[in-house]
Amino acid sequence: MSGAAPRLVLATHNKGKLRELRELLRGQVPGLDVDTQVVDAAAAGAPDVVETGVTFAENSLLKARAVAGATGLVAIADDSGLAVDVMGGAPGIFSARWAGRHGDDAANLELLLNQLSDVPDEHRGAAFVCAAALALPADGDGPGREVVEYGQLEGILLREPRGAGGFGYDPVLQPAGEDRSCAELSAEEKNAISHRGKAFRALLPSIVAALEAAG
Ligand code: IMP
Repeated sequence: MSGAAPRLVLATHNKGKLRELRELLRGQVPGLDVDTQVVDAAAAGAPDVVETGVTFAENSLLKARAVAGATGLVAIADDSGLAVDVMGGAPGIFSARWAGRHGDDAANLELLLNQLSDVPDEHRGAAFVCAAALALPADGDGPGREVVEYGQLEGILLREPRGAGGFGYDPVLQPAGEDRSCAELSAEEKNAISHRGKAFRALLPSIVAALEAAG
């Protein structure tokens, strides 16, 4: 089936997310070859989208809508971050640039731990939060259908980073009921409980319906 036309685009440059989505969809849609027909934005020739929204849902929708518009294909996107209880949900949509420079994980983490250094253990609740959006291209009858689903991974913030796996704030979030940080879990263990996994699984029926309708 190599060379089959793409049918679903994930608005990301992150190969890990694409792999996760392909595994979720494998065997779910008759006739869909996930390895060739589920592609990322670059493979579909879609442009980067500036995240101008102020919520995870807005940003995921902006990305999915833009990619569906640019490619004429069913598109999905996610937006996620860390929400700390005592900070009213911050860093939230600013998670990737909390210390000022986009994607500087070490600086983001250090700043957050310093900000929370006086907060006692019983008030260190936090969660990874994800919004996953599906957008269909517009047709002659008007704008395409859009759906947003959510997922959360709740836990507590540790005082020191632990573990070498994962990315971002993984070394400081210990999931509820766990005695390891997210960075000490295997990729499979993390995917099974992750905010993104939950959001994508919630979106799965809408993705399947959209692909079946698109044919
Ligand atoms: P994105 O929306 O997936 O690009 O995530 C935005 C930012 O949120 C990342 O740069 C991380 O700082 C943080 N983040 C989101 N998901 C996770 C996760 O699973 N582990 C650790 N950090 C995360």
